[in-house]
Parts: sequence; C-alpha cells; structure tokens
Amino acid sequence: MDLSYTAAEERFRSELRRWLEAHPPGPEPGALDAWVAYGKAWQRGLYEAGWCGVHWPTAYGGRGASLTEQIIFQEEMARARTPQLINLAGLTMGGPVLIAHGTEVQKRRHLQAILSADEIWCQGFSEPNAGSDLAALKTRAVLDGDDFVVNGQKVWTSFARFADWCMLLVRTDPEAPKHKGISFLLVDMHSPGVTVRPLKQISGDEDFNEVFFEDVRVPRANLVGAVNGGWDIAITTLMHERQTLTFSRQLQSRVALSELLALARRHPPHAPAARQPLLRQKLAAACIDSTAMKYTALRNLTTVLRGGTPGPEGSIEKLFWSEMYQRMLETAVELEGPYSQLLDGSAHALDAGRWPHLMLYSRGRTIAAGSSEIQRNIIAERVLGLPRAR
Ligand SMILES: Cc1cc2nc3c(=O)[nH]c(=O)nc-3n(C[C@H](O)[C@H](O)[C@H](O)COP(=O)(O)OP(=O)(O)OC[C@H]3O[C@@H](n4cnc5c(N)ncnc54)[C@H](O)[C@@H]3O)c2cc1C
Repeated sequence: MDLSYTAAEERFRSELRRWLEAHPPGPEPGALDAWVAYGKAWQRGLYEAGWCGVHWPTAYGGRGASLTEQIIFQEEMARARTPQLINLAGLTMGGPVLIAHGTEVQKRRHLQAILSADEIWCQGFSEPNAGSDLAALKTRAVLDGDDFVVNGQKVWTSFARFADWCMLLVRTDPEAPKHKGISFLLVDMHSPGVTVRPLKQISGDEDFNEVFFEDVRVPRANLVGAVNGGWDIAITTLMHERQTLTFSRQLQSRVALSELLALARRHPPHAPAARQPLLRQKLAAACIDSTAMKYTALRNLTTVLRGGTPGPEGSIEKLFWSEMYQRMLETAVELEGPYSQLLDGSAHALDAGRWPHLMLYSRGRTIAAGSSEIQRNIIAERVLGLPRAR
C-alpha cells in the first residue's frame, strides 16, 4: 500500500480545497422540497466546476482523473463537512453500473444527467419478501412488443419520492432457477402506473418508500445487459454499494469522531467525559476502530487501484464500518446522558440534537446493503472459502 501522493495529486487537493472554501454550501434546509432543491443546486455547482464524476470518463461528463483523485475528492468533501450528494444512488451505483454494463445509448442518455443532478436515481431491489434473499423477488416484467410491462412492489426504496429514475430488478422468467430469471431495467419514475408512498423511520426522517408498479410500460431499450442476465449486474451494484459507498462513509465518520472528541472535552461542563475513565476507554476504542477501518479501506482500495474491481472484500469494510459507527454513536449518546433525549428544536439540545439523531439513523446501517449476518456469510464463503451455508 503506497500512502504518498504525487505532486499533481497534491495540486488537485489544494485546488479543490480552495474551491470548497470559496463556495461553501450553506446550511441544509429542513423541509423536503427545499432540501431537494438545495441538494440539486449544490451538486450542479460541483458538476459545473468539474468536480463531479472525478474518475468518470470525460466522454460522459466526468473529469477523467485517477481513482486516487476521486478518493482525494471524497476526503476533501468530508473534511469540509459538505452535505451528502443528493444523487447518491446514481453516483455510487447507477453510474458505475452503466459504465460497466450499459449500452452506448444508455451511457450518453444518463451519465451526464446523473452527474449534474438533472436526474436523481433510486435503487429498486428489495421487496416485502425479498431482502436478504434478494433473488426471491417477484416483481414481474413481461415483454409486450417493444416494451416490458411491469407489475409488483418494492420497499425501503431510499429517496424514491424525488427520484427520476430507478434501477429496477424484475423477474422475467418465473420458470428458471431464481437467480437466472431476473433482469435489470431502468425505469422512469414519472411513468404512468408508478406510485410512491413514504415510510417514516425511527429517526423521524422519511427517506424510505414503498413503490408500486401497475402495468408500467418500460421500453426494451432500458434493459441493462441481457434478458434474464440481471443477477450479475445486481451483484456489481451491491459491490459498489458495499465498497465505494462505504469508503466515503468511513471518511465522514472520521470527521464525526473528531467532533465527538471535541464534545467530550466540553461536556458535561463540571466533569468532562474526556476525564471519565470508562468513557475515555470507549472513546479510545472508537479511535482505534476508526484507524483500523481507515487502513482496511485503503487496503481494499489498493486492490482496485491495481486493476481489480470492488469484490466480496467490500463486505468486510461494510460490516466493520456499520458496527463501529453504531458503537461510536452509542458512546455519544451515553456521553450526553439525559441531554440525549433532546432532539433538534430543543433550546437545550447539544449540537442541535445531532448525536441522538445520528444514533437512531445508524440502526439501519447494519441492515442496508445486506445485513451484518449476510455480510458475515459472504466473508465466510467468498473471502475465507469456508463451506457454503445451506
Ligand atoms: C437505511 C436503509 C436503506 C435502504 N435502502 C434501500 C434501497 O434504496 N433500495 C432497496 O432495494 N433496498 C433498500 N434497503 C433494504 C435493505 O436492502 C434490506 O432491508 C436488507 O437487504 C434486509 O432485508 P429485509 O429487510 O427484508 O430483512 P430480512 O431479509 O427479512 O432479514 C431479517 C433478519 O434475518 C436475518 N437473515 C436473513 N437471512 C439470513 C441468513 N441467510 N443467514 C443469517 N441471517 C439471516 C437478517 O440478517 C435480518 O436480521 C434499505 C435498508 C435500510 C435499512
């Protein structure tokens, strides 16, 4: 693992840092519509300045820079505490999947629009009875002339409420073995027959949705890969979700940890947590976890830099990050004591109620992109080569 940067990479970093200092995104609005408009404007500004899709080909609107520069971009975004990019699913999954498997027409149609946030994407994989066992999905697509006709239901679809496009897994051959009868479609979320219903989470957010498809016509040209060849494409998507997305999340959690340490030095005012032995141990453990995470992520990144693609090792990253993040936030709530009952809006909430909100939100991190149990199975079978679970 080479941890040094070239002079050109350092120049890239300083140029980006200067740009971020000159163009701060400003505070995030609370109401959904305003937040969507704000998120789109922020991503569009980055795109127009040439910072979005750092590693994507220039032919499709990217910067054509190296993967290392893409990583520097993520580091600087975390350092500047910028908001999460609104087109998360498009940037971390949809785009990379189209670059790997899309037709030229699909690439030209979508990649630039993903970067500029003109098209927001969502991921329509999970169903009420197909989460961990994703290949059990039942949403049906039947070819009728030049269109697929889609009927069925998805659930937990993050950001579907304001998404324009959906990466949809559908069953196209119900007679085939379950992994071999699935296709991967790109569905316009504004098509007639698509209904989105928000679901409220324990944190109070409404990021999740149920999405219903009733006789939705999807042009055959929106098929990615071959008919019934969708499973391999779904796996590419999940590998990117587990590794590429986790990489930026672990950077953000390192920044959050430094802010938690700052809180520990000042709260409670009479006996700061940083001086209490048990809390000190938990904070030290969080620092150790965070450092171990950093080098694990860099080791996996080295494999990709040497020409590999995100593989099952991403499960190690996703499992370790999601569990250490929860432990860190539980420590934050313990440190706040009774103040952790005060959410945003209360004049006495610490850091505007940020820590209890993050802790509640983090419960889903060990479920999303495959639960911890599923990651452990993948690590056992595909990384360590242990016998397969029956
Ligand atoms: C924050 C968040 C965002 C999400 N966003 C999206 C999205 O945008 N798009 C989308 O399609 N989905 C999304 N999901 C859904 C997510 O992919 C599923 O929740 C996840 O795959 C688990 O499926 P499930 O909820 O059906 O649980 P189940 O599969 O029913 O699992 C229930 C429990 O059983 C355990 N279990 C199941 N099978 C096994 C096994 N073989 N061995 C051991 N234990 C097992 C699980 O670990 C879990 O604890 C999101 C979920 C979360 C929490």
